[in-house]
Amino acid sequence: MYIISYSQVIAASDIANVSEQVLEILYDFESSSLDKDIKLSNAKGSIVDEDSKALKVQFDSKDHRSASLSIIPDKPFNWSTYEDFHIAFDISNAGEHSVNIQLDVSDTSGGNYTRAVNIPTGESQTYYAKIEGHDLATPEGRGDIELNLLSGLRNNPPTWDSEDTQFISLWGKKNLDTSAIQKISIGVKYNLFNKEITIDNIRLRKNPPLDPLYLTGIVDKFGQSAKQEFPGKVLSDAQLLENYKQEKKLLDGILMPDRSTFGGYKHGKKQPATGYFRTAKIDGKWSLVDPEGYPYFATGLDIIRLGDAATMTGYDFKQTNDKSSRYVEFKKRADMFEWLPKYGEPLAVHFGYVSNVHSGALDKGETFNFQRANLQRKYGTNYEQKWLEVTVDRMINWGFTSLGNWTSPKLYQNNKIPYFANGWIRGNYKTVSSGQDFWGALPDVFDPVFAKQADISVRKVAAEVKDSPWCVGVFIDNEKSFGRSESDDSRLGIVINTLSRDGATVPTKAHFTSLMKTKYGTIAALNKSWGKNIANWKAFEQGIEASLTSDAQIKDYQDLLHAYADKYFSVVNKAMKTHMPNRLYLGARFPDWGMPQEVVRASAKHVDVISFNVYKEGLVSGFWDFLDMLEKPAIIGEFHMGAMDRGMFHPGIIIASDQHDRAKMFKDYLYSVIDNPNFVGAHYFQYADGPLTGRAYDGENYNIGFISVTDTPYKEMVQASQKLNSQLYHRRYESK
Ligand code: CA
Repeated sequence: MYIISYSQVIAASDIANVSEQVLEILYDFESSSLDKDIKLSNAKGSIVDEDSKALKVQFDSKDHRSASLSIIPDKPFNWSTYEDFHIAFDISNAGEHSVNIQLDVSDTSGGNYTRAVNIPTGESQTYYAKIEGHDLATPEGRGDIELNLLSGLRNNPPTWDSEDTQFISLWGKKNLDTSAIQKISIGVKYNLFNKEITIDNIRLRKNPPLDPLYLTGIVDKFGQSAKQEFPGKVLSDAQLLENYKQEKKLLDGILMPDRSTFGGYKHGKKQPATGYFRTAKIDGKWSLVDPEGYPYFATGLDIIRLGDAATMTGYDFKQTNDKSSRYVEFKKRADMFEWLPKYGEPLAVHFGYVSNVHSGALDKGETFNFQRANLQRKYGTNYEQKWLEVTVDRMINWGFTSLGNWTSPKLYQNNKIPYFANGWIRGNYKTVSSGQDFWGALPDVFDPVFAKQADISVRKVAAEVKDSPWCVGVFIDNEKSFGRSESDDSRLGIVINTLSRDGATVPTKAHFTSLMKTKYGTIAALNKSWGKNIANWKAFEQGIEASLTSDAQIKDYQDLLHAYADKYFSVVNKAMKTHMPNRLYLGARFPDWGMPQEVVRASAKHVDVISFNVYKEGLVSGFWDFLDMLEKPAIIGEFHMGAMDRGMFHPGIIIASDQHDRAKMFKDYLYSVIDNPNFVGAHYFQYADGPLTGRAYDGENYNIGFISVTDTPYKEMVQASQKLNSQLYHRRYESK
């Protein structure tokens, strides 16, 4: 590690972009031995000599959960003398697969920021991540909107024009303490394949001048990127109509000759028919069975409905419901749009309003829905019905066997393709907290109001499904914060937080108290086991300092977490058995960040299929073996991958090099599910891209759709799904 002057850098021939202003070269790997700051985990590092010496890293990720290269200097980096700068890497990829890497930068005070980028196969390119920026302070006094993600986009367009690739923003605290950077880590997680990259010239560079218009006029009248050209971009209303005509011709004809009426495997081992979907083990592999008895494996897309595509316009109203009081609340957002309809114009019906933003630029305000506006342009005023019909034809033509979660109930009686139904338990029950309740507080499942609300929710789904044999099963709720896996404290958060509360008002706490009383009898026995000094059971019931101090305590907390989860799933299952006794209960869709084994095990006693949302490259060998013990099949509720080559500003959580690579990764993910005997299906999230400027609710602006905002299918994804789905049953049931 050494500091060189700007003029020396220009002379350095191995840095391609000579106009860059290098502040400091951290590592150029010119010494033949590995720098002592470099630590490798499940990875091999070696110095290779190509144009210049560089560090080749082979991530042995296939059978490990993660593999990484970390830079941990003896003394934290002090970069506080630099202003307005970023870190850059030259990276090439000589492997067979693109590499999705995560970059974590941490300071000594606990700040950490995670970004990601895809390294395509091929020659070296430069990738950069802003460490500090001097953004345009907004007229509204919101401060630096780019580095603080205050634009309402999960990831902004680059703030300067260059050939280099910016890392995508994922999560964490972006403004780090630049006087004490203790770790820079590049890693891969849960990969299906071993990966390798070659890194050189890790350096700090001055940010070029910021383009003052980087957020201005970025959205055209169709909701597409106004500043970029790309295949499939719609340029006129006439083109939308022509696209419809052309696609209609393609949607005729059945492509999958091996399918039963309900999309099952016509040539498979027939099982007894029950008139409903059910589960069975066939030749040692878990399977769904269709109403006629054919083996069935679920593939499909989530969000087959119009709903989440509205984006904040930056306008609000001084008086609620008084359009004449409209005003610009956030100019930077209002200026993003080249066009919004005028009030009174036909497309103005796609304005809306949200008052409960989860995360974004504003807490509330006006929205506009470009997806609906485009559908109206394309299909006319009765666009929703027409679009749903086209959509069903697409799903069948693309080879999918089902419509995934959050399908519009308007399609529950489509009678052409099976679907998954969905319900939410909401209402005025008491709540508990895991300490990190991402989507919201958790229900106090021992509050009788929770059971009442569960009953109401399931009854509603039953009324929507009616007697349709095409309903595969029902997901209830989604990604609840049952606990995170990082530590015992975060995994057992529900117990820790609930024990600190008063059982007089918190029914779950009262239940926990009674379980511990039954186990220990005396408070002295509990104190001895936990290493605590609680005065008496009354004090215990009123709320204790519940931090973890002993192994015995951890064991008890695991049992309490299990008891909480057991109650949650038994209550929901009881409602299912009451109102939909012949339907599969498919669980609550555990996110990969929130699937404590105590909770998963509890769920297995009550659900028919355990559901997981897994944003990774696929199901890696080893990790999912715990399912062997649970005697229940599993299903993937969500996964996705996106790219940056079609004018979007954020590819999503798993990043592909381009649409071609995305289609390949889509297939690889599904192959990993099809090949796993415990899984009975997987749904891709989601049918349509997110809005370019972010969903109103939370700013998600991902390129994750099979269709763009203009209802234009991504050809690469369609072809991949036709190929995969045509091989689906043979691969699942005919291969060993
Ligand atoms: Ca070098």
